[in-house]
Amino acid sequence: MGPGFLYFCEGKTSFNASYAKDYEVKMGGNYGDPDYVEHVFQYYEMPTASNHGFIIPTARNTMNERYGTVEDPIRGGTRMHNGIDLACSKDEAAWSIADGVVTDATFSSSYGYFVEVDHQNGYSSLYAHFNTLAVRAGDRVSSGQVVGYCGDTGFSAGYHLHLEIRLNGVRVDPEGYLPKLERSSIVTP
Ligand SMILES: [Zn+2]
Repeated sequence: MGPGFLYFCEGKTSFNASYAKDYEVKMGGNYGDPDYVEHVFQYYEMPTASNHGFIIPTARNTMNERYGTVEDPIRGGTRMHNGIDLACSKDEAAWSIADGVVTDATFSSSYGYFVEVDHQNGYSSLYAHFNTLAVRAGDRVSSGQVVGYCGDTGFSAGYHLHLEIRLNGVRVDPEGYLPKLERSSIVTP
């Protein structure tokens, strides 16, 4: 299993979810292993995809704050949190949760330096508070391709990655669309 995939990936920039799926299709999907792609990922210690085909965009799968109504650490009271916050230290890489096209890679006062990726299947994802961006609007990205390096820019109370997922333009709870996340010991309501 491993060496074939390795050769397939020669000449490509990295191992990622779409390459593993491409390889499985190329080889006829006939390994007698229904969990072939997942096993490739385990072999290479790569992130596995959820049922929706999304991978966790950070090396750590730890969620500091969930989607929904949460306490506001900056202004007090509560606020609507439109995404989830993932543990990500300063300048740690964050990558796209799936293949797509970068529609925004810019700065806003709330998101700081952020990237939005259109996955061209109704879904889009947004990654915020970067220290540095790694892509530009118009770039095509693969699942697992680095889009930025984590920071604390914009409306943020510490280094982390804020992730939003939209389905047909409507924000959804990313936790329901990603592989299982660990919850940090940081208390959220
Ligand atoms: Zn957030």
